[in-house]
Amino acid sequence: MKKITRKEIGEVELKAFRASEDCPDCGGCIDSIRINYDANPAGKGSISREFEMEQCSECGKEFLFPRFVRGLNRLADTLPKQSDVKWNLGYFSPDLMEILVTGRRHESRLEVERSGVKITYGKPTDTFEKIRGEIVRYDEVDHGFKFQPTLEISPGPEFSKSQRIILNELLAEIRQETGDEISCRFPFEPNFTEENNQVPKSLVDELICWSDRDDGAGVAMLNDLLSRQPPGRLVTTFRLLEHVVDIVIRKRISQARMDAAIEMDEFLELIEQIRKPLDQKLRKVIDEHVDCCVNGELSDLWSEIGADRGYNRNEAIQKVANFRNKKVHKMNPSNLRLPWEEHSYQAIVESLISLIEKIAALS
Ligand SMILES: [Zn+2]
Repeated sequence: MKKITRKEIGEVELKAFRASEDCPDCGGCIDSIRINYDANPAGKGSISREFEMEQCSECGKEFLFPRFVRGLNRLADTLPKQSDVKWNLGYFSPDLMEILVTGRRHESRLEVERSGVKITYGKPTDTFEKIRGEIVRYDEVDHGFKFQPTLEISPGPEFSKSQRIILNELLAEIRQETGDEISCRFPFEPNFTEENNQVPKSLVDELICWSDRDDGAGVAMLNDLLSRQPPGRLVTTFRLLEHVVDIVIRKRISQARMDAAIEMDEFLELIEQIRKPLDQKLRKVIDEHVDCCVNGELSDLWSEIGADRGYNRNEAIQKVANFRNKKVHKMNPSNLRLPWEEHSYQAIVESLISLIEKIAALS
């Protein structure tokens, strides 16, 4: 798609309405093309949207309707310098950011401040209303965020470690005081009640079959998942993953016990596996049994957990285990994430369930 910046707009003839179907310069046919226009005045950041633009198929002259451009330019001029606008979420600048969060409708804003870090929460600011105005102007729907509150934070990103600690403290205070969830996803979804809560039937059948072997532990975890029982879908999914991995290893141990061809050392090594950390158990089971047939699930997890380069299977297994350790076992204080930086747990849970289904089918 063709990109046009505000600087370049001088080269484009602004034209309110087309008088005829033909190019006023050469009489050629006019085509309609999609462009991405960035209204950011200068420097870092981006305030861009897609528009229709017209172009002469003969001489190449471009025509852009001024109302598209001017509205966005006006918005860009009211936002803090170097703003980066994510349309369904909010804007980020080094001085200030404001984002949409889930919560109740508020008629005022609550302000909390500590050591130069300030959060205000509640009714969207006038600046934010202007962003929403731009969305509603062109889109048929406003993505359901009409009554949602916003969080305004100054200064904006990047945040230092001490600022992250303060932001977490202030968010806890606001949540405690308002009783609001104040969660954040990008792209924004106003509610999560329609979140997919299904697991594949083959996995349900498999776990029911295991009840004799695991005293129903697998089915119990499955029920926690389906009924959204505490401790939550992410934790339960990781518990289920470790459970199916253990069951697969136990099955191998019981087979090896009856196998005269297996040496004692090999048998003892097999027993040792059950006590190994998740990444080692998972790697062993995948390497020995399912190999490349779980590459799809692992590469999905690789990108969902936040890889910055090409897929690597061994590292993906390590990442899954590290993510589990960080989210399920203990929080690492050197990596405090803020609500708008979180991963989509729903996507991770779905990929994990798909991986569990394949591993469970082994036993
Ligand atoms: Zn022309």
